[in-house]
Amino acid sequence: MRINGDRLWDTLMDMAKIGPGIAGGNNRQTLTDADAEGRSLFKTWCDKAGMTVGVDKMGTMFATRAGTDPDALPVYVGSHLDTQPTGGKYDGVLGVLAALEVVRTMNDLGIKTKHPIVVTNWANEEGARFAPAMLASGVFAGVHTLDYAYGRKDPDGKTYGDELKRIGWLGDEEVGARKMHAYFEYHIEQGPILEAADKTIGVVTHCQGLWWLEFTLTGKEAHTGSTPMAMRVNAGLAMSRIVEMVQSVAMENQPGAVAGVGQVFFSPNSRNVLPGKVVFTVDLRTPDKEKLDRMRAKIEAETKKISDGLGVGCAVEAIGHFEPVTFDPKLVASVRNAAEKLGYSHMDIISGAGHDACWAAKVAPATMVMCPCVGGLSHNEAEEISKEWAAAGADVLFHAVVETAEIVA
Ligand SMILES: [Zn+2]
Repeated sequence: MRINGDRLWDTLMDMAKIGPGIAGGNNRQTLTDADAEGRSLFKTWCDKAGMTVGVDKMGTMFATRAGTDPDALPVYVGSHLDTQPTGGKYDGVLGVLAALEVVRTMNDLGIKTKHPIVVTNWANEEGARFAPAMLASGVFAGVHTLDYAYGRKDPDGKTYGDELKRIGWLGDEEVGARKMHAYFEYHIEQGPILEAADKTIGVVTHCQGLWWLEFTLTGKEAHTGSTPMAMRVNAGLAMSRIVEMVQSVAMENQPGAVAGVGQVFFSPNSRNVLPGKVVFTVDLRTPDKEKLDRMRAKIEAETKKISDGLGVGCAVEAIGHFEPVTFDPKLVASVRNAAEKLGYSHMDIISGAGHDACWAAKVAPATMVMCPCVGGLSHNEAEEISKEWAAAGADVLFHAVVETAEIVA
């Protein structure tokens, strides 16, 4: 049994016409008119496939295909239709439309399942317009309150609550009231590992946990020409040693850990002034909780040592954190077995990015399927996948979902 790869691809291309970007990708940011248009098209497709669409108070869409047992909890399958401002055609969209393809294929083949199947379009996964990312699934999982979410503001000062009402997708369902038998999410990898290993399917076993640490180093602004080396209090020098140290801590914790500095602000940032203040952030990630916290402690301790040694003041603030997620072993096995049975090359992989599945895993057994993307490129209009990759992952999703929802003969 296979899904219809041509139909899936055509559906992806039809959705990509809504909210086109400027370089072949998409700008269909959450709660914009384009988002509303994409939602309407998706609803039309769901109606046509015989599903009933519900919407919750965060604007998340749930399209249900009934099961045979009225008491059985549904199997949820989804991702997100919103994009980055210069996003690709597949990030998130593939997961929602492949879930729709799973239902269409079940309809074609006359497959009935004990558990209902609910195709899900989570609102505001990207967090580009309203931070943080994965906002609606976060409220669903009880991580954020509804009031907090409604009050999030975009760069123009418009709130999530007002914009959700404005585009006409404020639903009446209590957020998080639905109970799940299982949650599946199919997503492009957004990294280079599968393509480099020449594997078609990523069996996702974990989601990395992360700490974002913001460091503020205080030195003394002084002339770079006339201040003798021995008399400098150089916050920039401390910063450079800390960047090296962060790299070493990551390397000491291989395999399965990453850490790096992606953002630095020098002040006053002038050619001939030693910086009096340097603010920079460290992004550190690993799927192992104990290791994650150990790495954070080490980086903080070493930073203090380096700063003290140079007479530089140092303050650290944790500005972001996710606990690592271990996906449900039984669902992970169902994905692996499906890939095996279908003859697709596969490997276990850890999700380097956050996904709605990471929050869903807090309230239900969850897992993910990944397919490669060209050059590992994502959050970029040039994001690309092949039709064959898209179809292979959807085939795996189909088999794992139908097995979990229990086919009725
Ligand atoms: Zn995504």
